[in-house]
Amino acid sequence: MITVTKTFLPPLEEYHKLLNGIWERGWLTNEGPLVERLEEVLKQELGVKHLFFVSNGTLALQLAIKALALKGDIITTPFSYVATTSSIVWEGCRPVFVDICPETLCLDPAQIESAITPDTRAILATHVFGTPCDVEAIARIASRHNLRVIYDAAHAFGVSHLGQSVLNSGDVSTLSFHATKLFHTGEGGAVITTNDELAHRLSYMRNFGHNGPNQFIGLGINAKNSELHAAMGLSVLPYVPQLMQRRQALSALYDALLTPLDLQRPMLPAGASSNYSYYPVLFRSEEQLLTAVAALNSHDIYPRRYFYPALTNLPYTQGAAACPVAASVASRVLCLPLYYELAEAQVEQIAQIITEVCQRKGVCA
Ligand SMILES: *Cc1c(COP(=O)(O)O)cnc(C)c1O
Repeated sequence: MITVTKTFLPPLEEYHKLLNGIWERGWLTNEGPLVERLEEVLKQELGVKHLFFVSNGTLALQLAIKALALKGDIITTPFSYVATTSSIVWEGCRPVFVDICPETLCLDPAQIESAITPDTRAILATHVFGTPCDVEAIARIASRHNLRVIYDAAHAFGVSHLGQSVLNSGDVSTLSFHATKLFHTGEGGAVITTNDELAHRLSYMRNFGHNGPNQFIGLGINAKNSELHAAMGLSVLPYVPQLMQRRQALSALYDALLTPLDLQRPMLPAGASSNYSYYPVLFRSEEQLLTAVAALNSHDIYPRRYFYPALTNLPYTQGAAACPVAASVASRVLCLPLYYELAEAQVEQIAQIITEVCQRKGVCA
C-alpha cells in the first residue's frame, strides 16, 4: 500500500540514547533539558529569534491569536487545512475569507483591502504547500490599516524567500511538527516571533500563565510539550537535509514523467526556496481527479485531496462570501505520494496510472 505520506522514523538507537537520559533524570516535561535543546537548535537552524515548542500546530495558532489579543474579524485563506479556520473560530473571532491567487494558491493580496472593515483586526495567511505568501504586499496592507499578521507556516519548515527565513514574516508564525510533516516530533508545533514583548507573553501563555512556581502574570493554557517529543525531534532533525534531498529527487521525477500531461502545479515565487513537503497537482476537472483517484486506489495507492473542501464550506462557516478560485482549486487538487522511502519505480507506476487516465479521458496529453 502506498499512502500520501509516510512518517520518517530515525534509527531507534538514536532515539533510545536520548531516552536513557530522560530515565536518568526522571524529568519528563515542564521545560526540560531536551525541550530547551530542541528550541535552541531550531532557532539556529531556522534563523529565527524566539521559538517556543508547543503541543501541536493548532494550539500554536490559538496561542498566536490569544497573545495578540484579537477580538473581531480575521481575514484568512479558504485554501488550507481546517485548523487555520477552526483556531480563529475557537478563539472567538470571525473568519473573513479572501480568495487565493490562482498561481501560488496563497491568499491573494490584491483582494484583501476590499474585505477590510472597521471590525478587521488581523490577517491569518497560510504558506500553503510551503509556497511563501506575498509577505511584502501583506505587510504593506497591514501597516496601512493597523492590522496584525499571523502566518500559518505549518508547511514552511526551512523555507526561505530572498535569502530570509519566511518564518520571520508577520507578527507571529506557527509551525506544526505533526508526524505527517517534513520535520516532526510525533505531535508538536512551535510559535515564532521577532517581537520580545510578544515572546514573553507566548512563553507564559503556553505554561498556564506561570511566572515562577507561586506566581501568575496572566491567563495561560497548557500548550507545553514533553521531553519524549523533544527527543523525537532531536533524533529526526539531523536527517532533514537528507529527507529534503530525497523528496526533491522524487519531485523532479514526477515533474519529468507528468510534463506531457500539462497538469497545473503551484507556482513558486521568484527568490523562494522549496522544502518539497508536498507534490500537489491540479487536474482540469473534479471528474478527472475522481477518475485518477479511483484508478490509483484500485492499485492500492492512496493520494489525498489536500485541501478539500474549501474552508468556506465548513459547518460553522456556512454563508461565508464565495471564493471561486479556492472552490475550483479545492475540487481539482490532489497531493501525490511523496516521502523518503518512496521508490522511483513507485513514482513511475503512479505517473503511469495518471497518464492512462488523462489519455483515456482525452482531456490532457
Ligand atoms: C498540519 C496543519 C496544521 C495543524 O497542525 P497540528 O500539529 O496537526 O495541530 C495547521 N495548519 C496547517 C496548514 C497544517 O497543514
